[in-house]
Amino acid sequence: MIASAIERSREHETLAVFRKTKSESEPDGGGSSRRRRSIDFDSSDAAVLASEIDVWVTHNRPKLGEVMLEIGAVDPDDLIEALQHQKANPTAEGMARLGEVLLQLGKVDERELAAALAQQFGIPFADLQTARPEVEALERVGEELARKYKVIPLRIEGDRVFMAIADPLDTQAIADLTHECRRIGLMMGAKGDIERLLDESYNVLMQAEGLIQAFELSDADAVRPVTDDDFAADDNAPVVQVVNRIITQGVRSRASDIHIEPGEKLVRVRFRVDGAMSEAIQLPSRMAAALASRVKVMSELNIVERRRAQDGQFAVAVDGRPVDIRVSTAATVHGEKVVLRLLDKTKSLISLKDLGMPPTIEAPYMKIVKAPLGMLLCTGPTGSGKTTTLYATLTEINDPTRNVVTIEDPVEYQFDGISQMPVSTTGMRFADGLRAILRQDPDVILVGEIRDEETARIAMQASLTGHFVLSSLHAVDSVAAVHRFTDMGIEPFLVASAMSGVVGQRLLRRNCVSCTKPFTPTPAEVSMVAEAVGHQPTKWLRGAGCSVCQNTGYRGRVGVYELLPVTDPIRELIVARATHHELRKVAIQEGMRTMQEQAFELVLDGVTTVDDVLRSVYAPGVDRAAEEPRELTAGAAALPEGGPALEMGGIPEESDGSSDEPDDPRDLSGGKSAPGAARAEAIT
Ligand SMILES: [Zn+2]
Repeated sequence: MIASAIERSREHETLAVFRKTKSESEPDGGGSSRRRRSIDFDSSDAAVLASEIDVWVTHNRPKLGEVMLEIGAVDPDDLIEALQHQKANPTAEGMARLGEVLLQLGKVDERELAAALAQQFGIPFADLQTARPEVEALERVGEELARKYKVIPLRIEGDRVFMAIADPLDTQAIADLTHECRRIGLMMGAKGDIERLLDESYNVLMQAEGLIQAFELSDADAVRPVTDDDFAADDNAPVVQVVNRIITQGVRSRASDIHIEPGEKLVRVRFRVDGAMSEAIQLPSRMAAALASRVKVMSELNIVERRRAQDGQFAVAVDGRPVDIRVSTAATVHGEKVVLRLLDKTKSLISLKDLGMPPTIEAPYMKIVKAPLGMLLCTGPTGSGKTTTLYATLTEINDPTRNVVTIEDPVEYQFDGISQMPVSTTGMRFADGLRAILRQDPDVILVGEIRDEETARIAMQASLTGHFVLSSLHAVDSVAAVHRFTDMGIEPFLVASAMSGVVGQRLLRRNCVSCTKPFTPTPAEVSMVAEAVGHQPTKWLRGAGCSVCQNTGYRGRVGVYELLPVTDPIRELIVARATHHELRKVAIQEGMRTMQEQAFELVLDGVTTVDDVLRSVYAPGVDRAAEEPRELTAGAAALPEGGPALEMGGIPEESDGSSDEPDDPRDLSGGKSAPGAARAEAIT
């Protein structure tokens, strides 16, 4: 509350300055470019508007470089470097803009650039980290125009619509926006911030009211069984549009999963973003069956079958980006629950270097990965980033001299020069696919996940006969992989000889770089960190919550890892059927740094919070509780006895299909925090 009050007052402050300076500078037409002159365009006379725009564009202003030096955004060396770069790299249209070059060279971020441009153009800089666009302003401009010209309408004063723009020299934008709104006032905003606010502000779910009412009306007369015809063709049917909007907003909100959950009184729609669930919208419970049926039609499932769980998939494009959606349905007491897993096809691959593995892990990891044969496993619960790590590893070892083949469910990213075999669409099992691959002379094989004894056995034999095998396994930590295999029925000697290394991992939420602030820790937090790493952070930091992180305090994620190299002492222990505890103890003696240690180090560095460590990483008491190996079977979560209430996110069974790996490679941008819009954009 207090924070938002401060934000509010700050907004008004900006505005006040704006008003004052405007009246000061207007009479002389902005003769002194140092003065803050707001631009105010009026469309009532087309000729006047055209000349106003012309004056605006040709107005004599200080050079951007000078302004940046003056406000201390760059130092002279940076500027000289940028100017030389600008000269040496002309674009098709001539010289690249200096601001673009500085951005490109990483000398400034988008917000610094926008602040400098505001200064140069004499217009206010809009602080879009705290801004709350007003609905009337948003509606006046309209989503289409706002997106087209990348402006975010902020407020209306009198008859003037204030908006933040990223490119103050976009004359077409100024002309069209003025025609639409009649009078506009321009402010400078960072491009990434504007894009983010566009996605948040034109939240398609906020405008779903009318559709819900339409549905209620159309359905009010009859409680009758739903048939295929109800959903077959009518794109304008309210339920069709509601589902489309849910998916659109899910993609725009960076959700990895969308849950449509019927309850007694209402249907709850929740998004999973950065590993945590949050509510997106509530719908009347009467819509439950129609929503489920619509999704089933889209994914070509049997809509009459309501009790049996079903899996399907379909593809859509949202804002021009292709998105694959995997669907799973399951009957609950209040109707069918539908979970959509979103796979963004345009997401870029992350390299091993950018995973954020500490050097102490990366070096031995590379040694294992570069070996001609062996077996490397990635372990962790659902959503711990296993696929990301496997893909990053694959890019590292893929070269034209090797035959690299994958078998996956599903294929999440398509590589050049690698044969990838999907299991789900073909109805083929992992074991069958793996046998087929082995007949095709592979060097490196990626098996998406090992779920059963047969697959495990074939993969291990492949590793022992001169192939390098990469795979993932649902297990709580690196050591637990051993017992997962023996519990499947694989002989310990086979496990010991086939495996060359196991990575255990989790994803933690990153403190939002836009609102990270010092805070006073609770005694529990202090003692937990003391117990884990022996000392306290110099500064306790966490995200206070802002519009960039939708007030969660977190944005993006960071990985923590532990690596178990299968050395001779470890091999002997595996063959001797050592317990999880014994194995882990020896591994730590041999130098394994646990992911818990790493997680708490991130707390020391102010990258994440104790809360999130407890939420995602198995924390204190892990070794004591792990003495009972049975708890590692069947992918069940093993929680430490008497430890704090840890939410493991379950290690859900595959069948819930909810979210195997909402891994987003872009979430792991290597730990180098570039505060500001450029970064926010990179992970959007
Ligand atoms: Zn924030």
